[in-house]
Order: sequence, then structure tokens, then C-alpha cells
Amino acid sequence: MFAIAIDGPAGAGKSTIARKVAAELSIIYVDTGAMYRAIGAYAIRQGVDTKNAPAVAALLPEISLELTYSEELGQRIFLNGEDVSSEIRLPEMGMAASNVSAIPEVRAFLLEQQRGMAKRQSVIMDGRDIGTVVLPDAEVKIFLTASAEERARRRWKEFSEKGLPDTYEEILADVIRRDEQDMNRPIAPLKQADDAILLDSTALNFAETVEKVKEIIKERV
Ligand code: C5P
Repeated sequence: MFAIAIDGPAGAGKSTIARKVAAELSIIYVDTGAMYRAIGAYAIRQGVDTKNAPAVAALLPEISLELTYSEELGQRIFLNGEDVSSEIRLPEMGMAASNVSAIPEVRAFLLEQQRGMAKRQSVIMDGRDIGTVVLPDAEVKIFLTASAEERARRRWKEFSEKGLPDTYEEILADVIRRDEQDMNRPIAPLKQADDAILLDSTALNFAETVEKVKEIIKERV
């Protein structure tokens, strides 16, 4: 059994890469960002300000999350039994996730579940604090990044293919603001682990990035 941790800023391509590598290695992909997004979505549904720490913490006992995978549907996330996989990808959910993710009770709530998943099976897990906090003993740690402009450009392409109206400038501003907030929070900030390999994908395409990631993994497991 082994664990692969992939961390990095918003829009670096962590989830696309992790999904592909998971399929090739026949291991489980755990998208921890989706878990924070689902909690943000629940707070919004309940009319709770995602920055209101005591109010968000009070909602946690009502929340049950389940990540599932099937070949037909891919990875899905269920919030109290309801599939919210599409809802959590709406552009405003990134900031909502970032807001709730700074709340200590929220992080503690998810930490236990995330560690539990990696105990039972080999995983590739992506997020912001996987190599530093969630799985400090992971066999492979990669910090995947790219310039803010390139990350915004990729996001913009993805959103416009879905028919969302957000402009490149709006997405770039959102990416920069979210990274700032994630890097500067007191608990589990976005940061490269000391023993993580830095991979900058600014000048690489998807296939090249997957190849690099696979090389790094092969050297270690
Ligand atoms: O990766 P994704 O963009 O889906 O993550 C949404 C937000 O959730 C991030 O901006 C970050 O604030 C938070 N997050 C986190 N720790 C993780 C994964 C995500 O704080 N391990």
C-alpha cells in the first residue's frame, strides 16, 4: 500500500492529473477540494455566511459526505445522500470552499475522514495540505504549480466550454485572491512540503505533465 500526495494552488491541474494517474495505477483518487466545496455549498444552502466560523462549525453535525467512484459516472460526491458533484463546480464555490476551509473545526472534521480513506487502500489525494498535514508520510509528494495567468487561462477554457459567462480577468482575480487566502491562513496553509518535488506545468501540456508525474512516482514506489 502507498500514498501519493499532490498539492498546489487553484487551477494547477491537480485533479485532472490525479484522476488520470489513479486510473492508470488502479488506485483510488481522493479529491479533498470537493469535500471543502461540499461544506461551502451546504452553508450557502442554509443561508449561512461561509466566513462565519461559529455558524459554519455548528452545521458540521448535520453533514455527511461520501465520495464514490464508478467507471460509468467517474468520481461523485454526495452531501447527505444527494449528488452535488455539478453544483460544487460552480465558479462561486471555489471561494466558498476557501472560506470554510480556514475554519479549524471544518479542517478537523475532514482530516479524520481523509486519513481514514488512505488507511484502507492506496490513494492519490490532492489538495493544499496533503503532503504537509493529512499524509505527512506519503511515499510520493508532488507540489504542482503553474503561473497564475496560465492557471486562469485553463480555468477560463473549462468554464467557457461549460457555457459559464465568467471572463478571463474575473477568473484570474479569483485565482489570485483564493491562493492568497489559502497561503496566509494560520492552519494548514497552502505550502510545499519540505520533501515534496516541485513540478511547474506552465510550459507543459496535459500529456507531458502526466508523464512527469509518472516518472516521479516510478522513482519512489
Ligand atoms: O482544489 P479545489 O479548488 O477544489 O479546492 C477548493 C478550496 O478548498 C481551496 O481553495 C482551499 O481553500 C480548500 N482546500 C483546502 N485543503 C485541501 C483542499 C482544498 O483548504 N486539502
